[in-house]
Amino acid sequence: MRLRDRATVLTIALAAAVVGPPAAAHGAPAGGPGREPLTLPAGGTVVSLTFDDGLKSQEVAAQVLADRGMAGTFYVNSSSIGYPANLTVEQLRGLAAAGHEIGGHGLDHESLPEVPLATARTQVCDDRATLAALGFDPRSFAYPYGATSPEVRRVVQECGYSSARASSGLYASPTECDSCPPAEDPAATDSWRIRTSGTDVAPELLRERVLQAERSGGGWVPLVFHHVCTCPEEGSAAISPHDFAAFVEWLAARGPATRVATVSEVAGGSPRPVVGTPLERLVPAADDARNRTVAFTVAGIGISQSNVIASGLLVAVAAMVAYRYGTRSKRYARRTG
Ligand SMILES: [Zn+2]
Repeated sequence: MRLRDRATVLTIALAAAVVGPPAAAHGAPAGGPGREPLTLPAGGTVVSLTFDDGLKSQEVAAQVLADRGMAGTFYVNSSSIGYPANLTVEQLRGLAAAGHEIGGHGLDHESLPEVPLATARTQVCDDRATLAALGFDPRSFAYPYGATSPEVRRVVQECGYSSARASSGLYASPTECDSCPPAEDPAATDSWRIRTSGTDVAPELLRERVLQAERSGGGWVPLVFHHVCTCPEEGSAAISPHDFAAFVEWLAARGPATRVATVSEVAGGSPRPVVGTPLERLVPAADDARNRTVAFTVAGIGISQSNVIASGLLVAVAAMVAYRYGTRSKRYARRTG
């Protein structure tokens, strides 16, 4: 190969390496545009179907909802993504592509008020950083076991979430929280303590919770699901795919005053910085935010330190090639002279 050709090939290869994918700026806001909290029409009811723990059995529910043009909120523990009973990264990406919301539920499902604050911060921030590095837009958090405290709520805010869901506080059944309000008011909800109606998902109770909200002037009814399977061993904390599909059909037939929306559609919020470190197992160091610390910004495009180093190498090699090419005729003349 002639020197000029070699120089061209080398330059193209290095240029490709330098351009690479855009820098996923560490500390930059994650996700899409901000949203205002949902404004409900007078007497309107909005139901959020939320799914905890990133369980594989929930994929069937996601499909049922998508077939109806509805979206759910899936709260994932990123440490267990891809484990045998859990959704994989590809399945979660499929859910997001179908319009579902992917939220965080802590790395390891630790009860956050019971661990040191630094551990709680790692549990919440690194979980969110992992989900963001995998390409999701994690705005909504759910407390593992519904357990929270003022310190934990501050951690969840500092990690960049826009809302956090508890797992009780609304009317659940004639024997559980029976005098609790049936719905949240989206305009007045404490975004860091979004209440729900418990984890018992017997179909008649699900319908009763929605009916109670409708009868009492509407509002926001966040419902919590875990396993969606025909699995009697899970008791009333699981719902069969058949019963889930029937409930969704029933919801769809409620009429225009009752609708379904994700938690972030109701709670609103704006993109917030990612402040944690992604899990190495799911986000290999070569292409995660740890190697993409923004060095400076040109015309709004973050230029990472690794890009800067690669660019420097390109300039050095190009200068060397140019020098050798420029002196070629002299050396050629010396050799043949
Ligand atoms: Zn959970």
